[in-house]
Amino acid sequence: MNFEDYFKSELEGLKEGGNYRIFADLERQKGKFPTATRYDVDGKSSEVTVWCSNDYLGMGQHPATLDAMKIALERCGAGAGGTRNISGTNHYHVLLEKELADLHAKSSALLLTSGYVANWAALTTLASRIPGCEVFSDTDNHASMIEGIRHSKAPKHLWKHNDVEDLDRKLSDADPAVPKLVAFESVYSMDGDICPLGEILDVCEKHGAMSYLDEVHAVGLYGPRGGGISEQLGLADRVTVIQGTLGKAFGVMGGYIAASSNLVDFVRSFASGFIFSTALPPALAAGATASIQHLKVSDMERMRQRKNVRLLRQKLDAIGLPHMDNESHIVPVMVGDAKKCKFISDLLLENYGVYVQPINYPTVPEGTERLRITPSPLHSEEDIDHLVNALSELWAQCALSRAVA
Ligand SMILES: *Cc1c(COP(=O)(O)O)cnc(C)c1O
Repeated sequence: MNFEDYFKSELEGLKEGGNYRIFADLERQKGKFPTATRYDVDGKSSEVTVWCSNDYLGMGQHPATLDAMKIALERCGAGAGGTRNISGTNHYHVLLEKELADLHAKSSALLLTSGYVANWAALTTLASRIPGCEVFSDTDNHASMIEGIRHSKAPKHLWKHNDVEDLDRKLSDADPAVPKLVAFESVYSMDGDICPLGEILDVCEKHGAMSYLDEVHAVGLYGPRGGGISEQLGLADRVTVIQGTLGKAFGVMGGYIAASSNLVDFVRSFASGFIFSTALPPALAAGATASIQHLKVSDMERMRQRKNVRLLRQKLDAIGLPHMDNESHIVPVMVGDAKKCKFISDLLLENYGVYVQPINYPTVPEGTERLRITPSPLHSEEDIDHLVNALSELWAQCALSRAVA
């Protein structure tokens, strides 16, 4: 086989469909969030306003986060120096795990190198090591959950996205004696919709199933202390496993699960993706801890973010630009065509200094291509006006339809 030709032709296929991924080369500017310097292929640079960051609250540049990281870097140096088991457990990891357990009112938490690894490792371990376990997975679950479930080789049942009756039916069809694990998310990343958590938990409890909740797009953002949708609704104690990331609203990096001491100790003791990987640098753990602590007591960032989300939605409505209605901080502006979506994103960047990555298939279904906009507390009203005007001009240029105002 000619490997090079094969790689090239596969990539050509992606390019023809408008699905080839091109990364914007950015240098984020500390203190000027959401501004970044963007380098083009010729190495020329320009200033852009980032409108699609998952550093939802700008905590990646917050003095509380940075000061903690600087101190830990000076005290401990760069890396952790090993896996958690072999010399890599730093005191900062221990403090962070205590902070996470407290955030979710669970007795224990386990830190992993990313949210992806947390889902992959925890779901693989639970579903493969609980004898006979069957998994019930929401159809819109994130790739990291899908891969973890697949790797466990446990029987998997898909239930219709956020459809409690379908979940109930699927659980009822299964053998009552079989251990069951229900995996789902609170805030879904691409549509920004929120699961009916209470009803899902009712159904899980009715069937004696464990609940595994990915709160990656909710931690730091919802609940009085940033404990996510489960905290906001006062339901955290009924969720078996809460999973989250330190890389989005907390602005740093890392992932975790929070649950009972026995469950966490079980994953710690059996999960290959935890045991055999170098621990996160102590400075990251210190920064994440400070960020969580800040958002536990400060509501200002969440308030300002919500205000900006409302403002953007109002201004889009005023000119009839279609966006998906949801109750979260994620504003999906619907284009519905892969090539136009990419074209609009390119022109926003080239002509307006606005960076929004196009979201195309396979991340979202074909025909629902979109610009996924995430207003932060640090965008100004002028930033919003500039974005909406730019979108309005490009909408006209692409002959895209508008809602009747
Ligand atoms: C981003 C994401 C993850 C992975 O978290 P990382 O910390 O970025 O690896 C997991 N679940 C969902 C729903 C996500 O969007």
